[in-house]
Amino acid sequence: MGNKTFAIIKPDAVKAGNTGKIYDRIIQAGFDILAAQLLRLSEEQAKGFYAVHHERPFFGDLIEFMTSGPCMVLALQKDNAVESWRKTIGATNPQDAEDNTIRKDFASNVQENAVHGSDSDENAQKEIAFFFSDSELPSN
Ligand code: UDP
Ligand code: MG
Repeated sequence: MGNKTFAIIKPDAVKAGNTGKIYDRIIQAGFDILAAQLLRLSEEQAKGFYAVHHERPFFGDLIEFMTSGPCMVLALQKDNAVESWRKTIGATNPQDAEDNTIRKDFASNVQENAVHGSDSDENAQKEIAFFFSDSELPSN
């Protein structure tokens, strides 16, 4: 099991001023923040990042949302990071998310759902590499 995952504090949460509160949740859940950057995704970056969803009916709206304002991209470290972060953020649709999860507490709806989390170790590696070069990540 890998010890890294990739997270995004999405534009809705940054815009609402929830970045600090979500950082607290990250720390409280025992993650180390290896790298973080505030940036605004280009359309090309958003389409590349979410390429797996390009046939889905919500794809166009998702790209519009993800490019609508700044977001925070993060590389996180913890034992069993992927599964632990998915548990910390909760279900995609906040209506289905458990109490005390980030999405339950900060998401507006199934699209504007505050945060991203990788779904496998393989995708975590790919997603971290999509935004951060090796020299931007601590080596141990
Ligand atoms: N999404 C959406 N409508 C849907 C399903 C997903 O707008 O019906 C958006 C939402 O922002 C979600 C992202 O697309 O976080 C990626 O979807 P995925 O199924 O991978 O959910 P996640 O892994 O983020 O929980
Ligand atoms: Mg996903």
